[in-house]
Amino acid sequence: MTVRSNLQEIRKYIPAHVQLVCVSKVHPIESIQEAYNAGERVFGENKVQELCAKSDALPKDIQWHYIGHLQTNKIKFIVPFVSLIHGIDSIKLLHEIDKNAAKINRKVNCLLQVHIAEEETKFGFSESELIDMLQGDVWKSLSNINICGLMGMATFTDDENQVRKEFHTLKMLFDTLKSTYFANEPEFKEISMGMSDDFKIAIEEGSTMVRIGSSIFGVRNYK
Ligand SMILES: *Cc1c(COP(=O)(O)O)cnc(C)c1O
Repeated sequence: MTVRSNLQEIRKYIPAHVQLVCVSKVHPIESIQEAYNAGERVFGENKVQELCAKSDALPKDIQWHYIGHLQTNKIKFIVPFVSLIHGIDSIKLLHEIDKNAAKINRKVNCLLQVHIAEEETKFGFSESELIDMLQGDVWKSLSNINICGLMGMATFTDDENQVRKEFHTLKMLFDTLKSTYFANEPEFKEISMGMSDDFKIAIEEGSTMVRIGSSIFGVRNYK
């Protein structure tokens, strides 16, 4: 299978209101170029160094999304060009991004990551942590941050009902937050959920952005 034919297959299931983020982590520049040639412009990476190297080497109209866990000391490298950061899981991180973005007079788009899975290991705010943060006023003063919505990852399991339930929880939380804190913020509109194995369920449950890697580029060989 080629990247192009994989994309043709996947696109059948992605409605126009859902953004496909091609997760190219670990895969070489040539594979990204293939997806680019097949029409894709939005790519996701989860390592800062890798993201910077790839963005240097590839066409400038690519929109790069950062989907990994972000360390404070690396923020400055991606803030100048990243088009969306998916994994914000603390107010401290928001502060740091805001500070770096202010220095270069840029507004950076961010998604708040919510812990919806059963596994302990997945990052993200709990619902109550998120509501605590939003009830405070601090985040409103971060004028170089644009909060564009939520991101979540379901439990890694074959149990479709569980996955569906977790995505549903994220959608319900999004609706609540939207009406409570972001009613006048049209930019708060994204629900980033769904990967290769569960994106169809995620779309049924209200995803607006799916992050798909292995179904496009093949299995990842971590060296
Ligand atoms: C790797 C990764 C993906 C893509 O996973 P696939 O199963 O290969 O589609 C999506 N989201 C995040 C946060 C990832 O780290």
